Amino acid sequence: KRTSPKPASLIRPLVRELHGYVPGEQPKIKGLIKLNTNENPYPPSPKVLEAIKSAVDGRLRLYPNPTAQLLREKLAKLHGCKPENIIVGNGSDELLAMAIRTFVEPASRSGERSASTVQFFTPSYSLYSVLTAIHGARANVVALDKEFGIPPLVLLKKSKAWDFKAALTLVTTPNAPSGRGYTTKELEALCREQQGVVVLDEAYVDFARENAMQLALKYSHVIVSRTFSKAYSLCFQRVGYFVAHPELIAALDKIRDSYNVNGLGQVGALATLNDLKYYRTNFQKIISTRERLSRELTALGFEVLPSQTNFIFAKPPSFPAEQWLEKLRAKKILVRWFKYPNVKDYLRITIGSDAEADALMRAGKAILKAG
Ligand code: PMP
Repeated sequence: KRTSPKPASLIRPLVRELHGYVPGEQPKIKGLIKLNTNENPYPPSPKVLEAIKSAVDGRLRLYPNPTAQLLREKLAKLHGCKPENIIVGNGSDELLAMAIRTFVEPASRSGERSASTVQFFTPSYSLYSVLTAIHGARANVVALDKEFGIPPLVLLKKSKAWDFKAALTLVTTPNAPSGRGYTTKELEALCREQQGVVVLDEAYVDFARENAMQLALKYSHVIVSRTFSKAYSLCFQRVGYFVAHPELIAALDKIRDSYNVNGLGQVGALATLNDLKYYRTNFQKIISTRERLSRELTALGFEVLPSQTNFIFAKPPSFPAEQWLEKLRAKKILVRWFKYPNVKDYLRITIGSDAEADALMRAGKAILKAG
């Protein structure tokens, strides 16, 4: 009698052994203060809600535009380029995965090491290493300096660890999880030396002093990645985009799923761009809460790094960071802690509303008092 195959035997070894990406927790119980996944504490503009509601009422029956045409036209105007310079994704996460599939050979297919290399700094966005592993590419991971800065070019050139020919280099700028910002000048210096594609992942750039959009329009091998998730309060809808040379965009477009960006996401993102003033006010509020919270946590004994994002990275006093995570959770506040050796002494804390910052300070003081 035939028996059916063991499920494990059906799964590619690469996938069987893969440690999949673990996103920050989305709690199932109510009443928690959620400062763990860098969401925006303020809702989208009322105009966005209106646009989405009327699309729900009238358009769910229809397929959405496959290339997010109207959104790309509007984004092109915003960035001073053409719709052909833009591709929209189901969150920027989808586009990062597509970039690896478009520009990088799986290691098994390539004789040349650099052709199958995805290169990034550590620490940076932890998804990069998982996407690299899924594709069967090689990861070249190089440490940022002690202050989470990008090592100067002369050092990268001397170190031999850095690969100037890597097929794809991913730079989180401003950096996550440290919050450290980089100048356009230093990013440009790095881009000029790279011979493969460089993605500047600007997920948090609206909270920073500088952005590097101009580099995507100046260099044929530079891609700037943006998202509506953080600054534009639209995580739920999953919309991100790349800006790059039309030939790179056309290549990415070939591997795009037919209707990769859902219709309500397109409608919501488009309405967002019609009300940018609303969002700019929110950026300012978040930045001022960030500066106040940084000062207050510093006064409490935290070592808070300067941040150009909507989160702060801080070494807490008195107990290890992992214990702080649990103690804050017991007080119904979720923050993020990463187990990796180079960041395990820090907590990453999303900037919420002023009331949430106050609650965090009260909890912090109570934890220190209880000892
Ligand atoms: N890049 C960085 C650095 C991020 O932190 C995130 C959010 N986790 C993303 C990209 C992806 O964002 P989304 O897929 O929501 O656009």
